[in-house]
Amino acid sequence: MRVVVVGAGYAGTIAANRLARKVTAAEITVINPRADFVERVRLHEQIAGTGAAAAPLASMLREGIATRLGTVDKISDGEVALGDGSRLDFDHLFLAVGSTVTPLPGTVPVGVWEGAERARAALAGLPGGRTVTVIGGGLTGIETAAEVAYGRPDLRVRLVGGTIAASLSAGARKRVRTGLERLKVEIVEGSVARVGSGAGEGGSDAVRLGSGRQFASDLTLWAVIGGVPDLAARSGLEVDAEGRAVVDEYLRSVNDPRIFVVGDCAAVPGARAACATALPQGAHAADTLARMIEGRKPKPYSMGYTGQGVSLGRRDGLLQAARRDDSVRRLYFAGRTAAVGKERICRYARFGARTATYAWLRAPK
Ligand SMILES: Cc1cc2nc3c(=O)[nH]c(=O)nc-3n(C[C@H](O)[C@H](O)[C@H](O)COP(=O)(O)OP(=O)(O)OC[C@H]3O[C@@H](n4cnc5c(N)ncnc54)[C@H](O)[C@@H]3O)c2cc1C
Repeated sequence: MRVVVVGAGYAGTIAANRLARKVTAAEITVINPRADFVERVRLHEQIAGTGAAAAPLASMLREGIATRLGTVDKISDGEVALGDGSRLDFDHLFLAVGSTVTPLPGTVPVGVWEGAERARAALAGLPGGRTVTVIGGGLTGIETAAEVAYGRPDLRVRLVGGTIAASLSAGARKRVRTGLERLKVEIVEGSVARVGSGAGEGGSDAVRLGSGRQFASDLTLWAVIGGVPDLAARSGLEVDAEGRAVVDEYLRSVNDPRIFVVGDCAAVPGARAACATALPQGAHAADTLARMIEGRKPKPYSMGYTGQGVSLGRRDGLLQAARRDDSVRRLYFAGRTAAVGKERICRYARFGARTATYAWLRAPK
């Protein structure tokens, strides 16, 4: 039985490893654009030089799993076409291509590996006293601004976004602001209308807000995750308004039961784009396929949340408690203990992808 896994992020890696563990007869091939597993949750560390986000993919996959470097251009009836013109047949496929970014012209996107590497190089070349602007008031923007301020205290860091940390409780939002202020991050609430790359004084960027306010920036980072790769849509699979593939209760494409869709690119009701979502989905889909092969009845996917974590540099952080339906509670933990907790969560995510051992809660009744 030939199984193709498209994308070696959290969802694809755990799916491949879990299936290899359960179905020894499966011939599994993982297709990924690079020979590294990218811990996306550490891209802000990679940029700021405080941590590394890439590990050899070979160190993450079980023995016997084949890898193919490349990008899938199209999925058709039992076959994938790669960018280099080659083709691969499959009996079952896991679509796990994650999410992507749509940066404003003149900005460098931090949410994908290639952008993060550009940002890292640009930041490393920036002399002290210069200004870095991070666009995006969500957790990715907050973590990026905080990490840059922590790793490069000689720079001025500005964070621009709508409501800062909108996904957290009111108390947690306030605490995030305090953490950012301690790191001397300037917070600007507003939306960016345009970035004139190199249009400002001395070749700096000119960042213009919707309100008309304008300021100069020497490096402007786009820290908003927006949309998913259009592979599912391009391949004729049914997608939702955001381009995510629509799945049944077993995480299979509603068009083709041979195709499981997992992680950020799957339209699962109530799911939030997160490694905390991608891992259970990848694991569950692999379990489902293993059950089907053994002639057992598959179980519907079910997952409940526990909260959200945000790092504020390496010594501060915040853990927001949530109900299983992902609605936030008032309770949160902040400070050094929360930073250690967040670090452990990141390590557990990587451990889960590599070992295929990962525990999660069921959805509320
Ligand atoms: C800075 C940052 C911090 C974050 N922090 C957190 C956090 O603290 N907690 C949390 O839960 N989530 C966090 N996230 C979100 C989390 O990283 C994503 O939700 C998670 O990576 C999704 O996993 P995935 O497996 O679906 O996709 P990804 O991890 O994005 O992996 C997808 C893989 O597919 C590959 N691919 C794409 N297109 C193709 C193609 N056509 N052919 C072959 N391969 C392809 C990609 O290159 C990639 O390797 C953070 C994200 C960022 C950017």
